[in-house]
Amino acid sequence: MSSFELTPEQEEFRKVVATFADEVVAPEATEFNAAGRFPVEIVRQMGEMGLFGIPFSSTYGGMDGDYLTLCLAIEELGRVDQSIGITLEAGVGLGAAPIDEFGTDEQKQRWLPELCRGEKLGAFGLTEPGGGSDVFGTARTRAVQDGDEWVIDGSKQFITNAGTEMTSVVTITAWTGEREMTSIIVPIDTPGVAIAPPYRKVGWHASDTRELTFDGVRVPVTNTLGERGAGFRQFLKTLDDGRIAIAALAVGLIQGCVDECVRYAGEREAFGGPIGRQQAIAFKIADLEVAAQTARQMYRYACRRKLAGLPYKREAAIAKLYSSEQAVTAAREAAQVFGGMGFTTETRVGRFYQDAKILEIGEGTSEVQRMLISRDLGL
Ligand SMILES: Cc1cc2nc3c(=O)[nH]c(=O)nc-3n(C[C@H](O)[C@H](O)[C@H](O)COP(=O)(O)OP(=O)(O)OC[C@H]3O[C@@H](n4cnc5c(N)ncnc54)[C@H](O)[C@@H]3O)c2cc1C
Repeated sequence: MSSFELTPEQEEFRKVVATFADEVVAPEATEFNAAGRFPVEIVRQMGEMGLFGIPFSSTYGGMDGDYLTLCLAIEELGRVDQSIGITLEAGVGLGAAPIDEFGTDEQKQRWLPELCRGEKLGAFGLTEPGGGSDVFGTARTRAVQDGDEWVIDGSKQFITNAGTEMTSVVTITAWTGEREMTSIIVPIDTPGVAIAPPYRKVGWHASDTRELTFDGVRVPVTNTLGERGAGFRQFLKTLDDGRIAIAALAVGLIQGCVDECVRYAGEREAFGGPIGRQQAIAFKIADLEVAAQTARQMYRYACRRKLAGLPYKREAAIAKLYSSEQAVTAAREAAQVFGGMGFTTETRVGRFYQDAKILEIGEGTSEVQRMLISRDLGL
């Protein structure tokens, strides 16, 4: 681990989360993934540890930590289980962060304390059945003002943490006028909100992902997040930050592949000795280590730029693109090191093989990242 550049507090916290990941999450991961079960008892423990409040002010129940500390926690959880890692990433980055960053003091007072303490979970609904990459061109959800209420009609697809027993709120984007998009905070139990059953996904089996539909849903106009018409700008900013966190999640997966492969290649024997003595296997694992270290430096660099108040859109896109593509390669190569066992979901690398693909899709596909980077280069 190249953690020498972390502050003592960050390193201490990283170790606490790593121990929790190894001792509490890892032993249960095979079971809750096989069952497709959202492990509410583990998520509540994460709440008690303060993980959902890391980057938020203690005024609202947060930990007064920074975004890098959040990413360290996501990386360490993602090293043993990606569903748990994404549950934290989405709960903080998509559920609570937009309210913290753009909400009024009253909205923060109302929603953040229970989200920061991990007693409740928030979600963010941007993607629609018509598309997620071209939101401006494909979104259909509308909100019409009727007196002092918004009346919302439409649907949102693939929303993480939308239907758990802990979910309290979803912030959605909706058209509120000609080319005017507004973010609106919707309590999940508002009449007219329908929560579909969970998707049957290729991976992230223990993460909760649902479609939400809104049929004449009425919420007060005071639930407008920040200003009316700011929705587009708000979700672009939310996704810039989210990409750093997804990169950290991908680094966790790659590091998990390194750790598991080093262990297995030392134990598993073929042709008279451990398979790790075969250069073909040892070189694969060396390449995984290269990917883990380089991808880690990239997300931390993007994160440090964010914390320093420097532009970081391009760096966040690079970190997300690079680490997610490396994670897919790492999962494939790690499964190869494990042979037949790598094709079972009994092994961590087998589960990573299922979990890796979404990293190239969620919070902006690889093509979208390349669009952002090339545009930022002036192309
Ligand atoms: C498990 C899971 C969890 C998710 N969680 C959330 C969530 O919490 N909240 C949320 O709002 N969304 C969420 N999403 C949605 C996710 O962000 C979208 O799936 C993603 O942004 C892609 O959108 P799409 O699926 O509509 O693909 P599309 O936009 O339809 O794209 C299809 C393909 O076309 C490509 N493409 C599109 N435009 C271009 C272009 N100009 N040039 C080149 N290629 C292009 C895309 O890269 C992709 O390969 C989640 C998705 C999944 C699967």
